[in-house]
Amino acid sequence: MPALPRAILFDLDDTLIRAYAQPEEAWTRLLHIFSAHLDAPDSEPGRAAAIERIRTAIMGEAKAFWSDHAQAAKWRLDIGGARRLSVRRGLAALGRPDDALADRIADAFTEMRRQEYRLYPDAHATVDALRDAGVKLALITNGAGTPQRAKIERFDLEHRFHHIQIEGEFGQGKPELAVYRHALEKLGVEPADAWMVGDNYEWEVVAPQQLGICGIWYDPFDAGIPAHATAQPTRVIKRLAELVE
Ligand SMILES: [Mg+2]
Repeated sequence: MPALPRAILFDLDDTLIRAYAQPEEAWTRLLHIFSAHLDAPDSEPGRAAAIERIRTAIMGEAKAFWSDHAQAAKWRLDIGGARRLSVRRGLAALGRPDDALADRIADAFTEMRRQEYRLYPDAHATVDALRDAGVKLALITNGAGTPQRAKIERFDLEHRFHHIQIEGEFGQGKPELAVYRHALEKLGVEPADAWMVGDNYEWEVVAPQQLGICGIWYDPFDAGIPAHATAQPTRVIKRLAELVE
């Protein structure tokens, strides 16, 4: 077992479980199911090209939507509602507004993603090894209480952590510094004795490091440190098990 801190704060989505990563493939697959409703040609390659135009429009609207930080903080508590807005705007941008169809597509995407959530294969073993080694563990996740609690239950995570903190229940989310401070207070650990592990560079590296917590960036798809990053992570891992190897 390598040198370990007194406490580790873990992110949930796309750190312990695969949830929202790599949306391009998922959107393409979902839109093909709806191709008959989207005036896409019956045969290839016309159909694939039409689907690609719609996917690009929807994902472009979603990117613009989530880039507004105040708006994002509000809509993180209603991901399904935000997705409906992005699909509505995407169809409208293509000159074929249809809110009812947009909502059906958005809801189908939300359900498809939910069904496809997967625990990363080394998540339980890594967390359990850390806990057995005496490390205090917290799970710190943004989002609404109900869907996040459902994930925690579905993937048998609750009993593995000393403290669980969900944005919708706590009232504040990452990257608010109060989020990390509260978690450390609950664990009775100082920032210098703690790591934060997660896939979001702003939330799990930049913000916690402002408090003196070591930011451990989880980069399973080998995306590399963002080009404009001003802060460097203490460490980059591609698998969770690297924490205990
Ligand atoms: Mg995450």
